[in-house]
Amino acid sequence: MTTSGLRIGLGWDRHRLVSGRPLRLGGVEIPSELGLEGHSDGDALLHAAIDALLGAAGLDDIGTLFPDDDPAYEGADSSELTRQALARVREAGFQILSLDAVIAAQAPRLAPHRTAMRNSMAALLQVSADRVNLKAKSGEKVGVIGRGEVLEATVVALLSKSEPDVS
Ligand code: MG
Repeated sequence: MTTSGLRIGLGWDRHRLVSGRPLRLGGVEIPSELGLEGHSDGDALLHAAIDALLGAAGLDDIGTLFPDDDPAYEGADSSELTRQALARVREAGFQILSLDAVIAAQAPRLAPHRTAMRNSMAALLQVSADRVNLKAKSGEKVGVIGRGEVLEATVVALLSKSEPDVS
């Protein structure tokens, strides 16, 4: 495979952790006393993944595609937003080679849910699970993450306009 068709994208998102909201990450509902505030379902991991994909494809960002002041997206299922973003990326002639993600939260511990989130994201993005990687970090009890105020997600995506490396 030549490298001329490769595009890298970066996505980052942060949502407040609040009571009375579900904690949904990568399309997976995680048992937690606190969930993510947001206009949509607050799935920061999928939002960061969408931005990474759109960024790599040169398609602006999630806020342009799905405006958060548009009532149509109130309570939106981020899995559905991910499917729509994937369709846009494919229409632009790209396919996903890989994604790598970091999620940072003080609580709950996310590491036990890594495999479920990874499999969910791979299914949503219609790639094999070995093309999606996920790390969970704590906030080391300092800053907005460490105080449990927010959860953050960062994702990089590598896309190709040429055939994927199948060897
Ligand atoms: Mg968001």
